Amino acid sequence: MNTGSRIYMEELQREDFENEIGDIYLSNVLSDSGVKANVHSTASGSVHELLECPVCTNSMFPPIHQCPNGHTLCSSCKVRVHNYCPTCCQELGNIRCLALEKVAESLELPCKYQRTGCSRIFPYYAKFKHELSCKFRPYGCPYAGSECLVNGDIPMLVSHLENDHKVDMHEGSTFNHRYVKSNPHEVENATWMLTVFKCYGEHFCLHFEAFLLGAAPVYMAFLRFMGEDEEAKKFSYSLEVGGNGRKLIWQGMPRSIREGHRKVRDGHDGLIIHQNMALFFSGGDGQELKLRVTGRIWKEQ
Ligand SMILES: [Zn+2]
Ligand SMILES: [Zn+2]
Ligand SMILES: [Zn+2]
Ligand SMILES: [Zn+2]
Repeated sequence: MNTGSRIYMEELQREDFENEIGDIYLSNVLSDSGVKANVHSTASGSVHELLECPVCTNSMFPPIHQCPNGHTLCSSCKVRVHNYCPTCCQELGNIRCLALEKVAESLELPCKYQRTGCSRIFPYYAKFKHELSCKFRPYGCPYAGSECLVNGDIPMLVSHLENDHKVDMHEGSTFNHRYVKSNPHEVENATWMLTVFKCYGEHFCLHFEAFLLGAAPVYMAFLRFMGEDEEAKKFSYSLEVGGNGRKLIWQGMPRSIREGHRKVRDGHDGLIIHQNMALFFSGGDGQELKLRVTGRIWKEQ
């Protein structure tokens, strides 16, 4: 849902854009080894179940504990159950299940994001480390200003932004927008807008927001890339805002949506327009904010 009732955006003109169909990345193609990994997963499935903590169902890491009757549990659950086995109520003591720890060490398992395209196989302990940064892990919803917990791959998030957050979707690598706000002296952290651009076979999120930088009200615009950081670095973008014979220009690189929206904002990695300057650009009597922002996204050679 769009909270920007006080601020809205007009599209002034859509310039011609180059349709870079040739640049679509096919990163989700499952390789032959993905099929192999599937077979592997079935074979070690039962052992894998043994390594699931029966209390919290997370995968267990050393030290793996067990009660005198042989029921296993992970070390964080051991603390939580106040030293009594949740299965048989026996006192737990301090018995480690070394055998299970050794079994875990000998296991090789596919990445848990196999279904979304990762075909890699890892030793048990390395697998969990890999999964924290696997590029096939789901992305969080990039819609800022809400506590949205939706996650998924990029195509899924694009339709989620369009259908559930009613975000404006644009095709093309250039844009020319006007942000209008009727009461520009009212700046809350929640005032912001998001537009999604599709070009070069990729998706980009243009954030425009008003917030307090220290005590100073500012507007900020920045671009995020819907994909991995290494792909984001292949692009650049520029933003221009002006009026009354003055102009501010920003050139930067889009940041991956893996990085939090706040992190980009608080790192000031974008076009920052102080409110006085913004009102100056708007002309008129300062009662209405009218910011014309033009921008371009391009692919670096
Ligand atoms: Zn547990
Ligand atoms: Zn027990
Ligand atoms: Zn992976
Ligand atoms: Zn969302």
